[in-house]
Amino acid sequence: MATNAFLLDISRCIGCQACAAACMTGNELPTGTQYIHLIEQTRGEFPNLAGGFKNHRCYHCTDAACVKVCPTGALYKEAGMTRLNREVCIGCAYCTDACPFDVPQIVDGRSSKCDACASVTKAGGEPWCVRTCPSDALRYGDRQEILAEARRRVEAIKARYPKARIYGETEAGGLGVIMVLPDDPEVLDLPANPDVPLLVNTWQKVVQPAALGLTALSVVVTGVAATIARRNHMQELKALHAQQAEAQKQESQE
Ligand code: SF4
Ligand code: SF4
Ligand code: SF4
Repeated sequence: MATNAFLLDISRCIGCQACAAACMTGNELPTGTQYIHLIEQTRGEFPNLAGGFKNHRCYHCTDAACVKVCPTGALYKEAGMTRLNREVCIGCAYCTDACPFDVPQIVDGRSSKCDACASVTKAGGEPWCVRTCPSDALRYGDRQEILAEARRRVEAIKARYPKARIYGETEAGGLGVIMVLPDDPEVLDLPANPDVPLLVNTWQKVVQPAALGLTALSVVVTGVAATIARRNHMQELKALHAQQAEAQKQESQE
């Protein structure tokens, strides 16, 4: 199966919300559920300020931390996209803790996030958000072709945005959403190095099998204690990762 990707051209996004609305309508999302969040931004420093929008959504990481920590297989990779089968989600919230972009949310006791319009694209159609965007900020297709288009666009806007660059080709092991950024990621509220925490890999190999045992036990005994234990494990892993990141930052500053 081909590896697909989205193109998200932040330099072209006008924040019109058409993609977010089409996503909600096309996917018949329940009230209160939204997979795309348009966040208005003021970029740069006075007096050189510029407006823009962050288009926050699942970035379909190749090496997806959410998939690694999901104990039931509700989150899985397919054709480069990160799918979600809510039917088998148990609402443990590991994915919300592990995602380096804070994407998944727990809605009605189960994880909720973009699945790249699985039903539409598998039938040969385009994702709802892509077909609705009026400014050609979104495209969907073969990842290599999307990358080539992103490179063309970066070159085309360099005169206007000297710091223009691609984001997502390699970040976090490569994303399924290739972005054209008009400025540095930090200016656009994106992590410069959204690497999958080393401890998430440890989690998958060591802690998760134990957690699965706890899950089975919890069904028989109480359920509650095991869930809290799992969450605590994840919080500890996140705290350790934050310490690692801080140490690395200090090292790079020395
Ligand atoms: S952005 Fe978060 S939810 Fe989306 S694939 Fe990556 S880790 Fe998973
Ligand atoms: S790909 Fe589909 S589910 Fe994902 S944000 Fe776009 S419209 Fe919504
Ligand atoms: S439809 Fe296009 S221009 Fe409008 S908010 Fe979405 S990505 Fe931006």
